[in-house]
Amino acid sequence: TEPLLQVEGLITELGETARPLRVVDGLDLTIRSGETFALLGESGCGKSMAALSLMRLLPPGGRILSGRVRLGGTDLLHLTEAEMRSVRGGRMAMIFQEPQTSLNPVLSVGVQIAEALHVHGEGSDGRNRRRVVELLRAVGIPDPEQRADEYPHQLSGGMKQRVMIAMALAGDPGLLIADEPTTALDVTIQAQVLSLLGDLRRETGMAVLLITHDLGVVAETADRLAVMYAGQIVETATVSEFFAGPAHPYGRMLMESLPSAEKRRGRLATIPGRVPPLDRVFSGCRFADRCASVMPLCRERIPEWIGLGAGRGVRCHLWSEGEASHPGPARNAA
Ligand code: SF4
Ligand code: MG
Repeated sequence: TEPLLQVEGLITELGETARPLRVVDGLDLTIRSGETFALLGESGCGKSMAALSLMRLLPPGGRILSGRVRLGGTDLLHLTEAEMRSVRGGRMAMIFQEPQTSLNPVLSVGVQIAEALHVHGEGSDGRNRRRVVELLRAVGIPDPEQRADEYPHQLSGGMKQRVMIAMALAGDPGLLIADEPTTALDVTIQAQVLSLLGDLRRETGMAVLLITHDLGVVAETADRLAVMYAGQIVETATVSEFFAGPAHPYGRMLMESLPSAEKRRGRLATIPGRVPPLDRVFSGCRFADRCASVMPLCRERIPEWIGLGAGRGVRCHLWSEGEASHPGPARNAA
């Protein structure tokens, strides 16, 4: 069957055309109905820009240069802005890290959810009110009838995030994009919001694209993942394959940076070095400056994508044919 979302060769730039920052550089992704797919990487690696590109919600100065984004049978990059608006929050919705920036402080949460319903063509008034209360209940908000009349400042961070999820669900999306949805929340609330997303996914059959820097979140919620580095995907795997042994040295570094006592919680410690600046032009591997396995070839030739079978793949010279005798990182780790 056709995947729900198929992204091919997506390139996104920000800033002046003379000196653009290439924030997404040739993104390929396939997401199936009903799965949770994690896009993992440090901040500044292009995850959010990739998500905003899919929604066509780039900040001013952002532009998609090329690529294809197919949702179901629809090529999103060829829709008019009006058509795209009806896809957004309808077949595809997005929630963000800071719910307060997306909620209107002067409208009650019920009115805001009703507006989301209205945009998606539901009837007005009494029926809308019932649906608002249903949605608040679905996202686990207690006393939904009363809560519907409250304003964002009366709600905790976790409750605000639940309201954002309710608004996203208003259009019954097939795909929910969640960009660091729990990063601003404390650990207990984080776990509750993640388990809510899991429940909703099971109940509605929607797919979730989860953007995160947190390996613990990936371990607990995702089926498959892609690791992103400096605008590119460097590894894809199922979550169990990845935890059994990342194929890419960067994936390995992410794993090793988990302090062992914290490993189960999956908090990332500080990782040595940093993501290279986005205006840099690369003649070799983007990870070379930080890689423990770097070879001379890595600085001379850009590594190509290498399929490792069954949806798994890696962008690293360790896995190229010429280096077949070299043990790849996953084999090393095994
Ligand atoms: Fe490291 Fe070379 Fe692989 Fe890049 S291509 S990740 S520098 S081994
Ligand atoms: Mg981000």
